[in-house]
Amino acid sequence: MDVTLLFTEYDNFKELTIKDRFFKHAQVEQLLGQLPSKFKVKPVGYSEEGRSINLVEWGKGPSRIFLWSQMHGDEPTGTMALFDLFNFLNHQNYLPAVNMLFETCTLYMLPMLNPDGAERFTRRNSRQLDINRDYIAAISKEAKLLRSLRAEINPAFGFNLHDQSTLWSVEGSLKSATLSFLAPSFDQFASWNDNRTKAMMVIVDMYIAINKLLPGRIGLFPDEYEPRAFGDNFQREGTSTLLLEAGGFKDDHDKQEVRKYFFLSILQGLLSISSRSYLSNSPADYSAIPKNGKEIFHMLIRNVKLNGMSTNLGLNYDDDYSIKEQKVTRRYFVTDIGDLRFSNAYKTYDSDQLVIHEMISIDSLANFRLLEGNKILLTFHDGILNAIL
Ligand SMILES: [Zn+2]
Repeated sequence: MDVTLLFTEYDNFKELTIKDRFFKHAQVEQLLGQLPSKFKVKPVGYSEEGRSINLVEWGKGPSRIFLWSQMHGDEPTGTMALFDLFNFLNHQNYLPAVNMLFETCTLYMLPMLNPDGAERFTRRNSRQLDINRDYIAAISKEAKLLRSLRAEINPAFGFNLHDQSTLWSVEGSLKSATLSFLAPSFDQFASWNDNRTKAMMVIVDMYIAINKLLPGRIGLFPDEYEPRAFGDNFQREGTSTLLLEAGGFKDDHDKQEVRKYFFLSILQGLLSISSRSYLSNSPADYSAIPKNGKEIFHMLIRNVKLNGMSTNLGLNYDDDYSIKEQKVTRRYFVTDIGDLRFSNAYKTYDSDQLVIHEMISIDSLANFRLLEGNKILLTFHDGILNAIL
């Protein structure tokens, strides 16, 4: 099956009730309750604040594959993709592929490991712990649960589903890294063993397929060993673990486009394992995938007169989520000033008439007006972009 053909028929299986980044545990529970009986849904634990965490088992094949999403509460794309996957697996149009998966694999899927973080749209859990730095200590209920599930399921493959910073680029391309993949290291030397090599070979299939849809927009996530993280430890414990990171795509703040590529990557990975097609890849093909880089800004203002010179200004934003108002406040910061010719941005302003009269300080909230001649182009007040005229 060529998964890229599914891109144009995505609405066939997209979970339409999930429309943005801010869906919560209640909606996840409701959707899980509606799954047909082929999906065995069982509560396997509770978050620190008592929200249920559920495992969905599907298939009867010998290849056990464990997929978990949103261990960081503000990284929801994997959860969206899992619900799209449930719909896909339940769709009549795709029976040959679905039947093959059903007979060859057993999928264990855990959407939203950190529901308390999702409630607040924060990376960390309700006790302010980063679950992905809690593998060894296992202080948090969520980390303890994930550890014990891996030991219980003993999966051959693990899919660790995250969202990465939208400021990653693909090295050399000056494009945002819409997706990044990694077969995490299991030691500080980034050694290869059989488990890690298998994960690399599956990633090669994912990269080759999805790169047709996203040329130049897929990178390898940095592979520094993090001894407290799950992927690194699962790799060592005998589960070939793949890290999938959903990144930035122009104007896709709610990740509704990235979601599609993310789902297709997961599906390609599952099909490669199911058909064993990954076995014909080589780890050298993995090493040839371009790496993530840091070459983009959220906004770049080129050739602007400021602080008494003509230069370039790079701005990035942070999104702060208010639980009470259920909305995001976006604040821009001055990230860099100077020669930024080797950088790119999601949004660029460039003209020889650009002027900023206010004094601009590095690392401060954006507080200025961008003029083109006498015309106001942008107004920032305490980091908030007020108007584009
Ligand atoms: Zn993450």
